[in-house]
Amino acid sequence: MKKIAVIGGGFGGIAAAIRLRAKGDQVTIYERLSKLGGRAQVFERGGYVHDAGPTVITAPNLFYELFSLFGENLEDFLEFRPLDPWYRFHFHDQTEFDYGPDREKMLAQIKEISPEDVSGYFNMLKESEAIFKLGYEKLAGHPFGKLTTMLRYAPAIIKMKGYRSVYSFVSKHLKHPNLRQAFSIQPLLVGGNPFTTSSIYSLIHALEQKWGIFFCMGGTGKLVSELEKLMIRNGIEINYDSDVSHFSTSGKLITRVNFTNGESKAFDYVVSNADPIQVSTELLKNEKISMHNRLIKKYAKHSMGLFVLFFGSTKCYENVAHHTIWMGPRYKELLEDIFENHHLADDFSIYLHRPTCTDKSFAPTGHDSYYALVPVPNLKGNQNWGEIKESFSRKILEALDKTIMPGITTNAREVFSMTPEDFKENYRTPFGSGFSIAPILTQSAWFRTHNQDDRYKNLFYVGAGTHPGAGVPGVINSAKVVEKIIYS
Ligand SMILES: Cc1cc2nc3c(=O)[nH]c(=O)nc-3n(C[C@H](O)[C@H](O)[C@H](O)COP(=O)(O)OP(=O)(O)OC[C@H]3O[C@@H](n4cnc5c(N)ncnc54)[C@H](O)[C@@H]3O)c2cc1C
Repeated sequence: MKKIAVIGGGFGGIAAAIRLRAKGDQVTIYERLSKLGGRAQVFERGGYVHDAGPTVITAPNLFYELFSLFGENLEDFLEFRPLDPWYRFHFHDQTEFDYGPDREKMLAQIKEISPEDVSGYFNMLKESEAIFKLGYEKLAGHPFGKLTTMLRYAPAIIKMKGYRSVYSFVSKHLKHPNLRQAFSIQPLLVGGNPFTTSSIYSLIHALEQKWGIFFCMGGTGKLVSELEKLMIRNGIEINYDSDVSHFSTSGKLITRVNFTNGESKAFDYVVSNADPIQVSTELLKNEKISMHNRLIKKYAKHSMGLFVLFFGSTKCYENVAHHTIWMGPRYKELLEDIFENHHLADDFSIYLHRPTCTDKSFAPTGHDSYYALVPVPNLKGNQNWGEIKESFSRKILEALDKTIMPGITTNAREVFSMTPEDFKENYRTPFGSGFSIAPILTQSAWFRTHNQDDRYKNLFYVGAGTHPGAGVPGVINSAKVVEKIIYS
């Protein structure tokens, strides 16, 4: 039985702990916060409950698998409720588009918006399904630690034009600007600019079409809490408020994990769910790091920052869907401001979460609970969020008030926010980015931090910063990759 430390209890760390424990090894999680979940924290203010991070559950089978590894059935503990629509798009021209499981309903809307795009949609879906077969079914759970693996798959990636951006992939098939926006925003959900993210990420469309989009009743916090109980039932030790300060090494091995409280422990394997750049800059600060990770540390392009505004409402806005994408006046230029110029523009787009649409337990009776997530520059932009956040919050509420939520500026209660500075502080994310490094082609697969460290052979990585990448399905798959490496 090997002794394994998992550093960090985000979804990547949780999935790794479960997978490695199911193999029979002795697994201990060390999480610096007082709760598990990482970005999937839960906040509660004045009776309004908020999942602070992920809310969209795709690829639910990945969670079923985690329970089944111990012979348990997820449905005995959790309910994944299918949503319809999956997303409601509210465009700047005040038109709306419901993207969801009812294909006929969606096609009828596409026909109304732009008749010629109906056949384009089918072509796009077909190509997206082919990309899914390669990008998700073959590559996502496969270790990419060797350049030879990358070279083996390179012809297939080139053949499906993985060097194109998601936006150019979508534009090849769809003509109407609103539909181009609606079907190209997916990279933003994993930290990428649709205009620079590899079209491999167009697989997200096929993934949604294959399995659907769900809400975990009770919220993502309930999901984390049931995974926590699953781990405890099956002998995984969990330590909270356990902050790892650094690793000690000898030759090609991590020999000790050291904590900020002065403790120090030895393990056979260490699995890091902390951001790989945090590992390079802090946990291995006094040690040598591999050339690969040195290059990433120096040259990586980080994902955007997030401004998340949490609020309750004394009025229920029944016209607001569970997930709304509220588009501002600019698309490409706004994304350029965020990702390239690190400039906080006057305009913005919003992803609005209304859990009370599906689960009334998130707010007192007759009230709603919301978060409005706005992509913003990461901390490379040097914005002073302490000064900006009040006025920025007001602007978001005013924009919603003028469009889909009349009166929200007076109905809003218990308003508070998270800025990129909080992401840096709470999750130790370099530059306070929302999703670790960005999902561009030159930062994907072999180019990302390898799941097994190139130098320290008993150090492994799971989570958004390693292969295959950010998003809940990505980080859970990273644990599968680590399992394959350790036990193959
Ligand atoms: C607002 C928001 C909304 C999102 N929405 C969705 C969505 O709807 N669907 C989706 O699929 N994805 C979504 N994502 C992305 C998804 O949440 C993340 O990619 C994923 O949860 C990241 O998981 P992770 O395993 O990388 O770890 P993280 O969640 O980053 O957790 C890492 C953990 O490691 C701990 N840690 C770090 N350093 C140390 C240390 N030195 N010692 C001990 N512990 C340490 C941290 O405290 C943290 O708990 C969203 C992200 C955000 C921020």
